[in-house]
Amino acid sequence: MCNIPGIPSDNNPWHSQPPEQVMQALQSPESGLSDTDIAARLATYGRNELAAAKPRHPLLRFLHQFHNLLLYLMMGAGVITAFLGDWVDAGVLWGAVLVNAVIGFVQEGKAENALSAIRGMLSPHAMAVRSGQRKEVDAATLVPGDRVLIASGDRVPADLRLLHARELRIDEASLTGESLAVEKNTNAVDAKALLGERSGIAHSGTLVVSGQGVGVVVATGLKTEIGRISHLISGIENAATPLMRKINRFSFHLAVVIVGLAAATFAFGVMVRGYPLTDMFLMAVALIASAIPEGLPAIMTIILALGVQRMARRHAVIRRLPAVETLGSVTIICSDKTGTLTRNEMTVQLIVTGAGRYQATGVGYEPKGRLLTENGDEIDGRIDADLIPVLQTGILCNDSTLEQGDGGWQIVGDPTEGALLVLGAKAGLATRAPIDDWTRLDSIPFESENRYMATHHRDAAGLDWILAKGAPEQVLSMCTTQLEGDATREVDVDYWRRMANDIAGRGLRLLALARKAAAPQQSTLTPADMQHGFVMLALVGMIDPPREEAIYAVAQCHTAGIRVKMITGDHIDTARAVGAQLGIGVGKPAMTGAEISLMDNAGLRRVVGEVDIFARASPEHKLRLVQAMQESGHIVAMTGDGVNDAPALKRADVGVAMGLKGTDAAREAADMTLADDNFATIASAVREGRAVYDNLRKFILFMLPTNGGEALVVIVALLAGFTLPLTPAQVLWINMVTAGTLGIALAFDAPDENIMRRAPHPPQEPLFTPFFVWRLIFVSLLMMLGAVTLFLYKLDSGASLEVARTMAVNTIVLCEVVYLLNSRRLQRPVLDREGLLGNPYALLTMAIAVFLQLAYVYWPPMQRLFGSAALTPVEWLLTLTAALVLFFAVEAEKTIAQRLRTRGKKQRFSP
Ligand code: ADP
Ligand code: MG
Repeated sequence: MCNIPGIPSDNNPWHSQPPEQVMQALQSPESGLSDTDIAARLATYGRNELAAAKPRHPLLRFLHQFHNLLLYLMMGAGVITAFLGDWVDAGVLWGAVLVNAVIGFVQEGKAENALSAIRGMLSPHAMAVRSGQRKEVDAATLVPGDRVLIASGDRVPADLRLLHARELRIDEASLTGESLAVEKNTNAVDAKALLGERSGIAHSGTLVVSGQGVGVVVATGLKTEIGRISHLISGIENAATPLMRKINRFSFHLAVVIVGLAAATFAFGVMVRGYPLTDMFLMAVALIASAIPEGLPAIMTIILALGVQRMARRHAVIRRLPAVETLGSVTIICSDKTGTLTRNEMTVQLIVTGAGRYQATGVGYEPKGRLLTENGDEIDGRIDADLIPVLQTGILCNDSTLEQGDGGWQIVGDPTEGALLVLGAKAGLATRAPIDDWTRLDSIPFESENRYMATHHRDAAGLDWILAKGAPEQVLSMCTTQLEGDATREVDVDYWRRMANDIAGRGLRLLALARKAAAPQQSTLTPADMQHGFVMLALVGMIDPPREEAIYAVAQCHTAGIRVKMITGDHIDTARAVGAQLGIGVGKPAMTGAEISLMDNAGLRRVVGEVDIFARASPEHKLRLVQAMQESGHIVAMTGDGVNDAPALKRADVGVAMGLKGTDAAREAADMTLADDNFATIASAVREGRAVYDNLRKFILFMLPTNGGEALVVIVALLAGFTLPLTPAQVLWINMVTAGTLGIALAFDAPDENIMRRAPHPPQEPLFTPFFVWRLIFVSLLMMLGAVTLFLYKLDSGASLEVARTMAVNTIVLCEVVYLLNSRRLQRPVLDREGLLGNPYALLTMAIAVFLQLAYVYWPPMQRLFGSAALTPVEWLLTLTAALVLFFAVEAEKTIAQRLRTRGKKQRFSP
């Protein structure tokens, strides 16, 4: 029986106990818990989760569908009709209400499922030590006693009693409201200390701002401080997108117009034409019912959610729904270089010491290869000595490990550091005495802001050393001397600068190595130790090949009218050389962070248009760049991974966080996370974003004329004073067959093939472009003409009113069926294989609509209900012809408009 540790009493809480005591109480060994411990404790304490918001009960969700002004209206009308004794029409009205509610219910359910699937993808992770190994685990599986590592940028995954803390500062605003980050240590404090004073505890949900720490989990889930005060911000926000807001506003205006129009129709019909009161009342209700786009919000959520799912399949995880749509209008993408545009597979190629230049052969992480002089000659023993301190510093001032796994050699940790391990291994140095005998006592980890890393060691003779590596400018400024063979002399800054420019010019990533024989001034290594007195050892140049797919994606973005800018912490020449391989900033000036700092905002606005490469840039520079670009009217996507990137990510129109190397802070500030850190993923997300925007517009432009056509038929009949071609029930029928089934197929439309060959749509573009209005009127008129012509022709040739009306209904339904195909492409003809057959859902819904229509025409119960009558094949052919006329007229309109556009040489590509 495994016994499980208990919870301390109130007068002896975790924060007042020393670390060792806590570890003992929680039975948490140095090597972490084993899998069996975890399982047992999970069973006792439960998962480390805060109870998710309870989903609404399906019945409640269903009832909620009726809470809609339009449906109230229809239900009210249904009651009135029933009182008037018109049971058939009352039944149709109530049927329509029910169908509407069911469709709404199903669509909303789909939308919610899609959203919760997306939420699942965002589940947090934590770095834990278990069974003696560090590994990334699902944060929900953490249990009391687990050992957890936290570092700057992480969100603390559970309440931790700290065992180690290095420069650890934590932002506890989410818990205490205190906006200043607090210093953490391992001290025990008074039992009565307030939350903000418990310096030895890292609270779940707070954000590590800097430093590192190790802690043992003392509380999980609802037992944590944040759990006690409930909710944690996680998962996806369900905000309305700008387009959705536009459409909602539009629907409202539309409703007002329609109700007005229906009232006018009613008044005109009753007073001028003398139609019976009840008939006209029902007609007004039916017109309102059919013309109001009730399914719109649900369909839009589905289109967005489907887009999000498609993006997720391409490794782009969306956090905020509106971002999907914004992606479609992005005009500038600012990207990191290392790992995003490049493969982040570093291989050292060149080493420059004070005495000579060397090359390393071999590719990738496999430690196979040799060190040669620059001319390819063997290295003799004398020069070998020149390299030993370099290789040694590279291996020791290093947090990565080199492992041989199933898939070959792998680096765990930062590839820039891993490359140095591989280099050392190639020289056979990895396990020799100068490595093993040096014990590491302390370190300052690499941060993009400082651009260096340092470690403190003690060698076999008991001597203290501080080793450093970092960006050459940084490291050189710490050096007073340099090593040349076995002599040291004053540092020749010019020489190193020349060498650095030379290496960077070849597109290699640069790293400088230095050391000094000294102990830290205080008990730990601090930035103060890093200011001077170092001996410059060497420059190392590593190659980091561009990603193949990034080269293609950059080209694709350029064709799509999107500028790609590189913002990197790397050397300007390295950045330029890599940019050249990718097609970024070719033939244009590049800029460094230092130059950005010297510029005011107005100046920056002037240059951001010109410059595509920003080197040695820090997070503050990113923020200023985003602002400058936005102020010059651009829609900006910006990538980032560090804590300090958060402001720039928040500010950007689409903040993009790195999923692999990114911190929680960056991910939470971002709108989208790249699961694979790959630039090409941003490009494909843009493509999907454009597809979503297209599909939304296609859906609206499909839906509106179908309603417009019916309304026109009734209005024209009233004005001209002939028998109404449609009864109220028939209007509702058309609405049911088409609105509920056909349009949804457009949500499944794949991106148009030329979607990345046109410019981004202007974000301030109104929903109703002149083109939209034109198409709406054009199609509504054609539909009305077809229906009215066939109706009157039938009446004229002596057919019954039932047959004539069935002709009208059939015409409108078939018109809508074919118009669905027209709508698959807004401005390009669809007369090709892909255009006609490319969307199986469209074909399916078309078939369903035709099937329902067959039932309407031939099935006796339907005939009784709606007053329809059987049609002859010739009559079917006539209605089909009317539909085909509409189809080809719209295609002809597209072709003519296309010609006019190209002739006008106006390169306004909008879809
Ligand atoms: P980026 O990711 O945009 O290439 P970084 O901020 O990671 O830029 O790196 C900037 C510079 O810092 C690099 O050119 C390199 O000289 C140095 N550097 C990068 N990684 C490390 C590291 N792990 N240790 C020391 N220095 C590093
Ligand atoms: Mg980096």
